[in-house]
Amino acid sequence: MAKVYYDQNIQEEVLRGKKIAVVGYGSQGHAHAQNLRDNGFNVVIGLREGRSWKQAVEDGFEVKSVKAASEEADVIMILLPDELQTKVYKEEIEPGLRAGKALVFAHGFNIHFTQIIPPADVDVFMVAPKGPGHLVRRTFVEGAGVPALIAVYQDVSGEAKDLAFAYAKAIGAARAGVLETTFQEETETDLFGEQAVLCGGLTSLIKAGFETLTEAGYQPEVAYFECLHEMKLIVDLIYEGGLKNMRYSISDTAQWGDFVSGPRVVNEETKQRMGEVLADIQEGKFAKSWILENQANRPMFNAINARERKHPIEVVGEELRELMPFVKSQQKQKEVVANA
Ligand code: NDP
Ligand code: MG
Ligand code: MG
Repeated sequence: MAKVYYDQNIQEEVLRGKKIAVVGYGSQGHAHAQNLRDNGFNVVIGLREGRSWKQAVEDGFEVKSVKAASEEADVIMILLPDELQTKVYKEEIEPGLRAGKALVFAHGFNIHFTQIIPPADVDVFMVAPKGPGHLVRRTFVEGAGVPALIAVYQDVSGEAKDLAFAYAKAIGAARAGVLETTFQEETETDLFGEQAVLCGGLTSLIKAGFETLTEAGYQPEVAYFECLHEMKLIVDLIYEGGLKNMRYSISDTAQWGDFVSGPRVVNEETKQRMGEVLADIQEGKFAKSWILENQANRPMFNAINARERKHPIEVVGEELRELMPFVKSQQKQKEVVANA
C-alpha cells in the first residue's frame, strides 16, 4: 500500500521562516491563506483589484498586486483559475522569480501540459487538496482536513519535497492524509476523475435517469427526488463506509437491483468510453481543446452552460429546494462562504 503521511510524520519547520504568497483568493486561495495564517505562517495575498481583493482585505490579510506579492515571497502558491495562469505567470510572476524561490501549484495542468515553463533555478512542486476549497477551510476549522497529494517537478534547493509536505501539513491536509504522486499522475487522474466520474459521469447519470422517468410519464418532482436529491444520502453512506456500508443500509430489494441492473447501465461499453476519455487526456487532446476554447472566449462552454441551466431537472429542482428549508439554508450558507 502507498505510504500515507500524517501530522506526526511531517516537520513543518522548513516552511516557518518563509514568506508565502497565496496568489488568488477564490475557492482554494481563501482556504490556504486562512489555514496557513491560523497555523502561524507568514502570508501575503497576490491579487488584482476586484471582489477577492476586497474580501481578503476584509479578512485581515496583507493584499498586494500579484507582481509585488510574488517579488517579496519565498514560496509562491498559484491559486488562479488554471486557464488564466499562463498569462498571469508570464506577466506578473516570472519577472520576480529569483534563484532559490519555490513555485507551487494545486493542480498540475499548466506544468504537465507545458503551458508554464519555469526557470531551472527554482523549486517547483504541488500540493493538491483532494476536495473543494470551501471544505479545505470548513474541515480545518472543525479540526479535521481534506487529504492532499504532493509532487515535486523540480528540486533545486534539495528541500522541495520537505517544503511540499510542510505546506500540506500547514493547510491541515496531513490530518486526513498526504500521498506522494507525480505531476503527470495528479493531472491525468484529476482530469479523468472529474470528467468520467465525479462531475461529468455523475451529472450525465442523474440527467439520464431523470429523463428516462419523465419521458415515461412519471412526475418530474418524483423523478427529481429519486435521481438527484437522494444521491447525496446514498453517497454519504458510501463516503463513510464504502459500498458495503451503503448496501448494508439499503433494502435487500435495492441491493439485488444494484447487482443485476447497475452493470447493465454502466457496462463494458461505458468502460471503453472511459478509456477513450482517458486517452484524450493522456495525449493532451483534452488540454488542447480547453486551451483553444479559452483563447476563443469560450463559445462552446457558454452555449452548453446556458442550455444546461434550462434543463427541466434544474427548473423543478429550484422549486423543490425552495420548499426544503434545510437544503436551502445549507445553500445559503454556501453562498455566504462563496462570497467570503
Ligand atoms: P477560483 O476561480 O475559485 O479563484 C480564482 C482566484 O483568482 C480569485 O480570487 C480571482 O479573483 C483570482 N484571479 C483571477 N484572475 C486573476 C488575475 N488576472 N490576477 C489576479 N487574480 C486573479 O479558483 P480555484 O480556487 O477553483 O482554483 C485555483 C487552483 O486550485 C486551480 O489550479 C485549480 O485546478 C486548483 N484546485 C481547485 C479546487 C477547487 O476546489 N476549486 C480543488 C483542487 C485544486 P477575482 O475575484 O478578482 O476574480
Ligand atoms: Mg480534483
Ligand atoms: Mg480538477
